[in-house]
Amino acid sequence: MCQILIIYTGGTIGMMSDPKTKALVPINFDQIMENVPELERLNCRIKVHSFDEVIDSSNMSPEIWGRLAGLIESNYDEVDGFVVLHGSDTMAFSASALSFMLENLAKPVIFTGSQLPISAIRTDAKENLMTAIEIAKAKKNDKVRVPEVCIYFDYKLFRGNRAFKYNSSKFEAFRSPNYPVLAESGVHLRFSINDIRQPGDDPLIVHKGMQNDIAVLKLYPGISPKVVETIVNSDVRGIVMETFGSGNTTTDQWFTDLLKGAIDSGKVIVDISQCKVGTVELGRYETSKQLKDIGVANGYDMTFEAAVTKTMYLLNMFDDPNEVRRWIETDIRGELTVS
Ligand code: ASP
Repeated sequence: MCQILIIYTGGTIGMMSDPKTKALVPINFDQIMENVPELERLNCRIKVHSFDEVIDSSNMSPEIWGRLAGLIESNYDEVDGFVVLHGSDTMAFSASALSFMLENLAKPVIFTGSQLPISAIRTDAKENLMTAIEIAKAKKNDKVRVPEVCIYFDYKLFRGNRAFKYNSSKFEAFRSPNYPVLAESGVHLRFSINDIRQPGDDPLIVHKGMQNDIAVLKLYPGISPKVVETIVNSDVRGIVMETFGSGNTTTDQWFTDLLKGAIDSGKVIVDISQCKVGTVELGRYETSKQLKDIGVANGYDMTFEAAVTKTMYLLNMFDDPNEVRRWIETDIRGELTVS
């Protein structure tokens, strides 16, 4: 019989309104189980690990990602797949982080949650949870169907490091415009086999560390030298820069000089676009050519979530900024398309 490990970290799926404050707070997993008697009817053994302190995912941290990765490592040989119950607010960060931390992953790690608590009459939690389990145990001819870190939400399965939360009030909370959905559920559960990564034979390697020595520079017309200087000269090793269109920035000399100074001092600057669809093309316009010349790293079509967590992951792996830059520009877990 198959075996699935559900890891409960918190999130709306398991929240209830506090009688005093009326604010939504996480409850324990037993109370969740009471709302889903269907779990008993699955032809599968369900193991549950609930975090001691269940959280709203706004309190997620690299330290908790390390614990999640460790749990997956210690149960990896025993179970067929994992379902991670997680708040939707930072789910895309966690799914991206885990995709980098779990090298050579060959089993499903499916993140899910919900927009309404599982005890609510109109909840989206039950469908999300039950189908996430179906996906985590899905095999064809004994072969795992989705050996990836994914997000399942509102009838769609996304690659975790390609998705982002775009809507806080619809059940359809996630999108992944730069990569096709990996499966859709309706009357049938249909997998897009050609879009799913297939693992090699190498054993799982788990990297539990992340280096959070990073800053974010989001550009806007009128940004001042003082603001850019404060960010690029701060005590960090990596900067994720959100630029315009296909990776463009102002060509003002002060701006290029500040960026060049930071890069020459050993910092890595990653260029991703503020556009949610499309890719960075350094050198396509005059307004990005100077970035290429000074050694800004091309983040291609990475989501903000993937760029942040990949930078944290690589800074922990390498001291040499050239190595970090090289791997930023390389597709390592299906997170970017080199164009
Ligand atoms: N604030 C909640 C969380 O991220 C929202 C959700 O679960 O959808 O934990």
